Order: sequence, then C-alpha cells, then structure tokens
Amino acid sequence: MARSTRTSHACDVGGVALGGGAPVVVQSMTNTDTADIGSTADQVTALAEAGSEIVRITVNTREAARAVPEIRERLCADGVTVPLVGDFHFTGHRLLTEVPDCAEALDKLRINPGNVGRGARHDENFATMIETAIRFAKPVRIGVNAGSLDPELLDRLMDENAGLSEPKDAELVVRRALVESALSSAAAAEEIGLPSDRIVISCKVSRLQDMVAVYEELARRCDYPLHLGLTEAGMGAKGIVATSAALSILLQQGIGDTIRASLTPEPGGDRTLEVRVCHELLQSLGLRAFRPQVTACPGCGRTTSTVFQELAEEIQAHLDARMPAWKRDRPAVAEMTVAVMGCVVNGPGESRAANIGISLPGTGEQPRAPVYVDGEKVATLHGPTLAEDFIAMVEEYVERTYSSAAVS
Ligand code: SF4
Repeated sequence: MARSTRTSHACDVGGVALGGGAPVVVQSMTNTDTADIGSTADQVTALAEAGSEIVRITVNTREAARAVPEIRERLCADGVTVPLVGDFHFTGHRLLTEVPDCAEALDKLRINPGNVGRGARHDENFATMIETAIRFAKPVRIGVNAGSLDPELLDRLMDENAGLSEPKDAELVVRRALVESALSSAAAAEEIGLPSDRIVISCKVSRLQDMVAVYEELARRCDYPLHLGLTEAGMGAKGIVATSAALSILLQQGIGDTIRASLTPEPGGDRTLEVRVCHELLQSLGLRAFRPQVTACPGCGRTTSTVFQELAEEIQAHLDARMPAWKRDRPAVAEMTVAVMGCVVNGPGESRAANIGISLPGTGEQPRAPVYVDGEKVATLHGPTLAEDFIAMVEEYVERTYSSAAVS
C-alpha cells in the first residue's frame, strides 16, 4: 500500500515543527513527580538523550506548577533544550492562573476537554486555559481520551442515538463523541482567539480498531496536526505490538504528525523504551532514520552455536555507542544497513543487499565468513578476532562513506 500524504497546518512547539509536511516527531512523557525537580529533570534528560524530541510532564498540583520553571532552568543549564509540554487535568485553569511562570516555561499546554469541569464551569475553565496559551503564545494540544470523555457530550449523543429508528452500536457513538469533543473544543479555542496553527489534536483510545476509525475521521474533517498514541497500550510485547500495529496503519495512510508509545514500564524499568519503540517503528516504516539497522537472521537448526547472535548483538551495541558522535559529524550514518547472517542459505544475499554484511558459517560449513561491501565480496574473515575485524571494517566504511568530504 502506498503511503499517502495528509497535509496539516504546521505548528511550532518550542522550535520543533509538527505537521505541515515535517517529519513525524517522537515524543514521550515522564512518570516522576514533577514537584521532584531533580528526578524530573533527570528523566527529561534521559528521554531527550534517547531521542525524544518533545517531552510531556504532569502538572497536577501547585508544587508541580512551581517546579516547572526550575526544571526548565536546570535543563537549560545542562544544555538540554527539548520542548516541554505541561499535562493539565481538573486543576489546569487554577494552576495556570496562580503560577503564570509555569505557562511561560512550557512550550505547549495539553488540555483534556473531558477534565476541565462540568456545565458552565467547563466553558469557563477551558477559556481560562486557552487565554493563558494566547497570552504566552503557546500552542495547545486538545487531548481527548476515551477514559475521560466529556460525560455531558456522551450522554447527549447516546440520547440522540437512542431516539433513532435504528440506533447505532454504542461503540460507534463513543467514537463519534471522541471526534466531536476534539473538533468542537478546537473550534471553541479558535473562537476564544487561539490561532488554528497553534492547535494540535489527539483522541486516544485503548482499542486498535477504535483508534484507527477515530483518526481516519479526524484526518477527513480537519487539518490540525494529529498526535497519535494508543493509550494504555500495556506492558512488554503486548504494549509494543499493539502500539506498532495501530500507529502503522495510520502512519502508512499519511495520518499522524507526532507519536507517543504509551507503554507501561516494568517496575523499575527503563522509561526510554517508549522512545526506542517510536524510533524503531518510524524507521521500519521508512519514515525516519535514527540509527544504523542491523539485519540479522533469526537462526535455525543450521546455527548450533551462538556466535552469530553474539556478533549481531555486539555490532548493534557498537553502532548504538557510536551513533551520538556520528549524529553530530555524519548524521547520514543513521541510514546505513549492516547484515549479520547465520549461514549460506540467505547470508550472502542479505549481506549483498546491505551496505556492509557478513555471512557467518553455519553448522558443518567451512569456518570462514565472507564480508560484502555495497554488494561486492571484499574479504573473508575467520578466527578469534572475527568480531573486532568486522567492526573495524564497519568503522572504515563509515569513515569512507559518510565523512563530510564523502557526502558533500
Ligand atoms: S540464514 Fe541460515 S542460519 Fe539464518 S535463519 Fe536462514 S537458514 Fe537459518
């Protein structure tokens, strides 16, 4: 399926462009107590260093709101310039009024229209937050979530549906409510005076088919940049697969300007996993390149030793360790492909297709490993220094192919 291109407004978030044809932006969210300035600044730094291009932090209390300018200052002092988004629910109108420095220090406000109060209070609180965004020239994400959908809107649509001669499934009414909540809130924000190019929309749900249907509808009906995420995706392989499947269907259609993988970390687990998942997803789809890719076969009965798995792991670790420096001096290395294959069945073919590849001997084969560079066999490695010899060849290839002199 060819990827189509949906054109949305461009929205500037602290110097990072969302939409308007810009590359899909990776973002993440901290899970520290924002009032804990040190822990939050450290985690923002870790997420930014892992490649998160925007980081969201919870702003739920006065202490958290007061901490935001200090977190920003601390990050600036450490040279971390990643844009920060404040996540507001229930208390945002009050916090932004009482601690205006918080709004000033943030690069975007996330407002959930389902969590800003009920009835007249809803409109008042929503207006207060939008007026703050206008005052400080900040963009806003109207972030609707199925778990906190505006109950008044949902009740009204459910009642309307019940009155139809052929009522629709409740699931379809919920999808409609999500879209209506996002679009009517964006329209209200524009009426208050927020320019349309400062609005981003998301409608997060936890079920893949709902998410796809909702975003397809949003893409048809508006040209705001869309923030994609399967909310509450879950832990481990389940969370990664569900997120990848949902986002891929939409990204392949050209829908989505920024993404987040809402993974539940293992207790004490690494928060930056959600950033790595987004990178792998975008790189697998051919939309962005973040690091050289190692193509490794899965192994089978022809590989009775672990040599090739160890080599594949060693090569990927070496490439990951070198990438921060390469990113500064020769960013095109991110597009390099390296093949590490387990035997002669597919090894030579995949090695030829990669920029540089090695085909290790399978069980019973000659203990020799042919190396291919840009499709040509250039060497045969063997013996105990095979791994370091191959890494040296990769380094030499990078130096020769991606130096500024080589690419200019
Ligand atoms: S390349 Fe060889 S070792 Fe790897 S999976 Fe295929 S047959 Fe098995």
